[in-house]
Amino acid sequence: MKKIYLFDLDSTITKGEILPTIAKKIGKEDEMKRLTEMCMTQDIPFDEGLKKRMGMLKDIPVSTIDETILDIPLNEKLVDFINKHKNECYIVSGSVDTFIKKLMKKMNMENNYFSSRATVKNDRIESIDFVIDKEEVAMDFINKKEYKVIAIGDGSNDAKMAKIADVGIAFGGVRKIAPSLLEAADYATYSEEELCELLEKM
Ligand SMILES: [Mg+2]
Repeated sequence: MKKIYLFDLDSTITKGEILPTIAKKIGKEDEMKRLTEMCMTQDIPFDEGLKKRMGMLKDIPVSTIDETILDIPLNEKLVDFINKHKNECYIVSGSVDTFIKKLMKKMNMENNYFSSRATVKNDRIESIDFVIDKEEVAMDFINKKEYKVIAIGDGSNDAKMAKIADVGIAFGGVRKIAPSLLEAADYATYSEEELCELLEKM
């Protein structure tokens, strides 16, 4: 059976959190961190939280944002694994496409990602048109009945995807694993090396 790996991006592949990193640029880091924390622990639903957090960034040019995202360090061993198994790997990100397009290109994953989507006008986010449902992405692969689906993430918005996948892996190498994900996952690891070893064994 062909394997499909579905990777969360933020704090799974990136070593820093995307939206708080951008918020730092405009001195709204604390406010953003609080909001992000609430999203991760499910005090507010993910799509509502995403829209609120994006609202905080509405005055920053998208061209500044995607460059800032490019500068966030990555878990390089994980990126190596993804490059080595490119045909089996997809990034599944709650972030909007316009923010992460450049990073996906840099990772050679521009044709291998699913994300939320936004419309940009005059270099600013005009609207958020689609908020991704990661469970749905996993379900589409599972329904094809020809893949073993392995889902990897750190946040509460990864929990349903991890639960529905054949194998769900919680990775706490960057930040604390969300309790709901820890409960849904088959494996949990806090080390990037261990994660890569686990992925190779699937
Ligand atoms: Mg994440």
